This record gives sequence, structure tokens and C-alpha cells, in this order.
Amino acid sequence: MSAAQPLPCHHEPAPPFGPAPRRATRQVRIGNVAVGGDAPVVVQSMTNTDTADIASTVKQVAELWRAGSELVRVTVNNPESAAAVPRIVEKLAMMGIEVPIIGDFHYNGHQLLANEPACAEALAKYRINPGNVGFGKKRDTQFAQLIEFAIQYGKPVRIGANWGSLDQALATRLMDENHLRADPWDASRVLREALIRSALDSAARAVELGLPAERIVLSCKVSGVQELIAVYRDLAQRSDFALHLGLTEAGIGSKGIVASSAALSVLLQEGIGDTIRISLTPEPGAPRTQEVVVAQELLQTMGLRAFTPMVTACPGCGRTTSEFFQELAKVVQEHVRAKMPEWKISHPGAENLTLAVMGCVVNGPGESRHADIGISLPGTGEAPAAPVFIDGEKSVTLRGENIAREFVALIDGYVERRYGRDAGA
Ligand code: SF4
Repeated sequence: MSAAQPLPCHHEPAPPFGPAPRRATRQVRIGNVAVGGDAPVVVQSMTNTDTADIASTVKQVAELWRAGSELVRVTVNNPESAAAVPRIVEKLAMMGIEVPIIGDFHYNGHQLLANEPACAEALAKYRINPGNVGFGKKRDTQFAQLIEFAIQYGKPVRIGANWGSLDQALATRLMDENHLRADPWDASRVLREALIRSALDSAARAVELGLPAERIVLSCKVSGVQELIAVYRDLAQRSDFALHLGLTEAGIGSKGIVASSAALSVLLQEGIGDTIRISLTPEPGAPRTQEVVVAQELLQTMGLRAFTPMVTACPGCGRTTSEFFQELAKVVQEHVRAKMPEWKISHPGAENLTLAVMGCVVNGPGESRHADIGISLPGTGEAPAAPVFIDGEKSVTLRGENIAREFVALIDGYVERRYGRDAGA
């Protein structure tokens, strides 16, 4: 074995650590939530109920909000859904849920807002897709109508361009211009440029019409990871509008989670992005709230925000053939997630708690010492004892049938001592 290298001399700069400073953006108020500027990166989600079905939509918005969604978008696609919006907002308010509701408009938003002033008033933001706001000569007038409603009702908008509904007239024009270039770009670069121009030109038009830039959020969503990163890096350099990040049509299950996390984490690390949505296709029977959990976990594991205590758990291997530690990791994560809404009010700061559930003595004590509170379960052939480490020190050893219950009680006690009203008294 070669001798250990000495530490670098103290004159050498430290290697970079952590995300780049957030890009400076204009802050937008969406109801009671700030997006951009110095506000933390905001988690948002979208319902998949028929908005006209008031009871189902209220129920799902409430679930998304309880899971931690700070903004919720609903589609507003027909007169029935536009008429339902004010009643949805009213029912949520009666339940004590003040989450801003965003209306997602395509094709007919100008008519729906004109015919349902109560909807225009109840929504906290309008999402406008410049690729399908209107076609031909109607495009500019219908876009202007939507912006005028935003001005009239004092609402912000998101100008959300999307790869799947790109403004075809603009794309064709840029393709034609590209053919005349001495050194033409490849087609994918032209399409990325068309997407960015669609958003930026629409935003410039909205400002010209009188909507303050502080009421505009931009997005340019694509479904490929590298394309998304390239588009947002470019967009971030070319404007100071607040940016909504999301990989569109990310997909189902682990593919959707991995693709979204891969794309968004690169951008967030570069300081790009003011609000995020994870566009997961739910697995059959899976809750819609999964997209909120993934968004929160992405931000928390990157150290950008804290929402709920995080459990570090080893993957398990042949040294621990029992499934007990997997079950304990699940019980602990579910317990702290379920307690968090209450702790958020009664024990502020508990979201920063770190926990470890480890399968054997190899990494168990070490990882448990790094956590605020950790447990090292006995691996195969080890004595049936589970030492618990609190603040880096061995505290107690649990044995027998009730390890899960006793460990959860230790966590609750720790939260009470460290974050409760009498903490530090
Ligand atoms: S801590 Fe033990 S059980 Fe867990 S992965 Fe490492 S060696 Fe395997």
C-alpha cells in the first residue's frame, strides 16, 4: 500500500463545493407564494382530475397541498371547468387551504376568461402556452386578450413553451433562415432556438402590452434530459425572468424520476430554476402526490431546501439477510413524513433532522454517528443487539421484538428535546 498523501498546502484553493449562487431573477408573487429573486425554489404540481368534477379536484388539490405542494395547477379546458374553479378555490379556503391555484389554458383561454370572470378572479396565475394560444392571424389577438385579462385582474402569468406544442410558424421561419446561413445549425439546435424565442418573444410582447416583467414566469419544457439542460442554460443567459423548471412527459416509475432528477439537478446546481414540477406519469394506483415527494426529495438531497427528516439507509447485502432493517427504514421514513405537518408548526426545524437505519456493523455505527440519531441493526451472525447513536454518541442498545416502536419513540423524544417549545430552556 502506498503512503498516504499529505493534505494539500493551505494556499491551494478549496475544490468547489455546493451549488452555484442562484441566478438573479425578478421575483413574482403568485397568491401568497413568492417565486424567484431570493425566494427558495418552490415546489408545484398539477392535478389529473376533471376540473369540472369539483369534489374530486378539491380532494386532490388538498392531498397535493398536504404533501407539500406550494402551488397547484389545474387544467381549465372548457366552460364547465372554468365555472368550477371559483367553487374549488372557495371550498379549499373553507378547509383552511390557501394554496394558490394556477389555471392551465390552451386554445380557448381567452374565451373562458372572458365568459367566467369569477374564474379569472379566483385563479392565482394563468399559464399560457404560446404554441397554441391561437393560430394564424388570431394568435396575436388571442395572446393579447389573455395578457389583458392578467393586467385587468392583477395576475401573473407563466409563458410556458413546450416541445410538443411548439409554435410551428416560428419553427418554420427559423428553419428557413437557417438554410440561408453560411454555416447552418443542425435541426435540433434550430428547434431549441425556436422554443426559447417563442417564450422570450411572447414575454417581450406581454411587457409591451403593459404586463410588468415581475408578473411573468417562463418555461421551455422538453422531454430529453440533455435538450432541457441546453435550453435552460441558454434561456437563463438571455433573460432575468423567473424560471419554472420541468422535464415534460418525464415518464412512468423510476425512468420518470431519474430523468427529471438528472435534468433538474444539473440546472439547480448551476443556480438555474425558481420553481420546479416533476411531471411523472403515476403508476396505476399510485398517488398523484408522488410527484411532490420527488420534487421535495430532489431539493432536499441537493441541500437546497429542507422539508422532512431524511433517512439514510444502507442497501443491504449478504451480511444482513433479514428484511427487518428495510422495514424499519420504511417505518421510520413514513413516521417522520406523517409527523411533519404537525412538527412544522409545533417543532420548527425538525425538517433538518437526519436519521440513519443501517443493516450491520460494517458501516452501521459509522453512518449512525454521522446522523442526529441512527441505529445499527445486527447483521447475520452478530449478537442480536442494535446500538442507537444520538448526536454521534452511543446512547442505548435496543433488543427484542419492539425495536421499531422503541426507535420511533427515541426519534420523537429527540425532536421534542431539540425542536420543541422548551428546547434550549
Ligand atoms: S452496512 Fe452492512 S448490511 Fe448494510 S450494505 Fe453495508 S455491509 Fe451490507
